[in-house]
Amino acid sequence: MFTLVKNDDLCYYKIDSFENSGIVRHGFTTKYGGVSKGCFESMNLRINSDDSIENVRCNYEIIAKELGMDVKRLVLSKQVHKTDIVDVTSLDAGNGLWYDNKFESADALVTNEKNLPLVTFFADCVPVFLLDTKKEVLALAHSGWRGTVGKIAALTVRHMCDKYGSCAEDILAGIGPSIRQCCFEVGEEVAEHFSKEFVDRCKAKPHIDLQGAIAAQLEAVGVKRENITDSGICTCCRSDEFYSHRVMGNQRGTMAALAMLI
Ligand SMILES: [Zn+2]
Repeated sequence: MFTLVKNDDLCYYKIDSFENSGIVRHGFTTKYGGVSKGCFESMNLRINSDDSIENVRCNYEIIAKELGMDVKRLVLSKQVHKTDIVDVTSLDAGNGLWYDNKFESADALVTNEKNLPLVTFFADCVPVFLLDTKKEVLALAHSGWRGTVGKIAALTVRHMCDKYGSCAEDILAGIGPSIRQCCFEVGEEVAEHFSKEFVDRCKAKPHIDLQGAIAAQLEAVGVKRENITDSGICTCCRSDEFYSHRVMGNQRGTMAALAMLI
């Protein structure tokens, strides 16, 4: 289950299985608990928007403090809807928040270092959290429709196995709040990339089940069904609580997935 944590104005989600592992601090943010105003209200974690960098850094300080992370060590991804996976070390601490992002293409981040928080961004695309509880390896992936077609979640599991010696059966997966089949209406040029079991054709236009496709690709590389937690939350249906690109367009804030081995 994804459980909502409320601390005064600050609201975010945790994955029960990750929390119970005892080896990770993590969260998935909502709109609530930050200092940003207007269309960015209030927990905007988006770099390079019309929101001020001071506000965004302040928001990072709030969520990092809540999660017991050193805000100076956050490592931000560089999401370009590709499937490149970047191994992160302490040499990358601060990337993208305190100095220019040095990654060219990094839709997935992986590390086995402790006290090194990883950060990925979302406003309808699918956050995938991965945690090998035996070898203690952590990954975050950004799986929009292109990343899902490219199987970035499955590739990240494979990478954890090949590079860090993980066994897929030891990996916990969390599929976070994101646009779901109820709202993810697409054209044929998108639908044609998905196998038909993940395309609902009952309405005028096709609707895609990204979360189902991601869960299936994780199972196909050996992640156990019972180790996969799907939040069941649609960011488009719940645009009161989440920034949704589908609802708000580009003038909006961004949520983040944050996670760190301890
Ligand atoms: Zn929906």
